[in-house]
Amino acid sequence: MAETYDAIVIGAGIIGAALAKELGERGWRTLNLDRLPAAGYGSTGASCAIIRVHYSTVDGAAMAYDGYFYWKDWADYIAVTDERGLAPFRECGCLVMKTEKNGYLEKIAANCAALGIPFDDLDHAALAARLPGFDLRRYAPVKRPDDPGFAEPTGGTLAGALFFPTAGYIADPQLATHNLQRAAEAAGGAFRFNAEVTDIRREGGRVVGVTLADGSRIDAPVVVNVAGPHSAKINDLAGVTQGMAITTRALRQEVAHVPAPAGVDWEGAGVVISDSDIGCYSRPELGNHILIGSEDPECDPREFVDPDDFDRGFTEQWTVQVQRQAQRIPGLPIPRKMAGVVDLYDVTEDWIPIYDASDLGGFYMAIGTSGNQFKNAPVAGALMAELIVACEQGRDHDAEPLPFTLERIGRTIDTGFYSRRRAINPESSFSVLG
Ligand SMILES: Cc1cc2nc3c(=O)[nH]c(=O)nc-3n(C[C@H](O)[C@H](O)[C@H](O)COP(=O)(O)OP(=O)(O)OC[C@H]3O[C@@H](n4cnc5c(N)ncnc54)[C@H](O)[C@@H]3O)c2cc1C
Repeated sequence: MAETYDAIVIGAGIIGAALAKELGERGWRTLNLDRLPAAGYGSTGASCAIIRVHYSTVDGAAMAYDGYFYWKDWADYIAVTDERGLAPFRECGCLVMKTEKNGYLEKIAANCAALGIPFDDLDHAALAARLPGFDLRRYAPVKRPDDPGFAEPTGGTLAGALFFPTAGYIADPQLATHNLQRAAEAAGGAFRFNAEVTDIRREGGRVVGVTLADGSRIDAPVVVNVAGPHSAKINDLAGVTQGMAITTRALRQEVAHVPAPAGVDWEGAGVVISDSDIGCYSRPELGNHILIGSEDPECDPREFVDPDDFDRGFTEQWTVQVQRQAQRIPGLPIPRKMAGVVDLYDVTEDWIPIYDASDLGGFYMAIGTSGNQFKNAPVAGALMAELIVACEQGRDHDAEPLPFTLERIGRTIDTGFYSRRRAINPESSFSVLG
């Protein structure tokens, strides 16, 4: 006899683990399957795990602001003991530079004001006071080093920035996922590692279970694709790709870790920075390092890859990102030994995730997180659990999208925003900023 659960969750990253906790607390017996050896070892483990509240869309900002409160009250939310301790939230705040590219943040400021998200509006002088020693001249448009204008100021200085105090980062995203695993287990959930799903079995228009690489079969009337950069492969196994207007692809990313300049305590005093004038985001990293990611400027090629076959080594891109950051931070050390991470985003056409049902009864997806949904994992877990319960009780979510109340900020959103059948959302930044 095959083993049976109420729901199988494919993936034990931050969102798969959050979903297991939420379903478990609703009385469901869940099993998370992951091909890797532990929770949070996929793209979650590589995540910069920045918690920020500014997004290009009102719904995106609302979800992120709701998510912030889960991180702030992490111990209450997890509510169990994890023998490894709880992942701390370093609430250092986030500075977002006003640039031509982001419309000087007028739309974002309006979205945040409408949602009651706190922020300080800094003019150039206030920004300079906040970042002593930084070079605040304009360098846009972002270029590659082979462009003769690379690292040449283009006239004038940054107009200012918005500072969001309700922001920061989780220094150990794997530990946060382990915390969720322990919470899910306390609610009755099971996790199995080194367990690769190779088939999704269907009967009579519904999913009935999965088959693993070792040939074992596990049955469940509900299967959820939370497979991160492998999401498109899992959707192909389930035969649901045809019914989707929005799709997912794995996009390769490099993140650099470099030491802070001599004499600067960036780990103690630094903030998260989003700087579209130089095409970089950054945050303090343990060991007084600076972590530097890319804001995907148009001049950089996008490297879509097979998630089972891509180069995990650093390339010229690592150096490009560090050199771009060095425009802003004179004296930034550029070590010869490259450190950081190379991993994958699971990207949709509009860089907004898909949290949805599918054309196959009992098959659901929380995918396409586009490099920006670590912060939203607790909310996404709750949203998906509500959606699955409603659909299994007969709701036609495609015809009548489920309203979902963001518990911590008391705002109800239309989950059709995350539909696999939506039109591409023109309000998006079409980048990791969401
Ligand atoms: C470099 C980088 C930086 C990022 N920075 C940020 C950030 O600062 N802030 C933010 O909010 N977000 C960020 N993100 C995005 C964030 O990390 C992701 O949105 C989030 O971790 C996705 O979690 P997940 O659980 O959906 O996926 P994952 O963590 O990828 O988990 C999916 C799991 O599914 C498993 N799996 C796949 N196929 C199978 C199969 N066939 N059988 C069994 N298991 C399978 C994988 O092994 C994996 O563990 C970043 C991502 C990257 C890569």
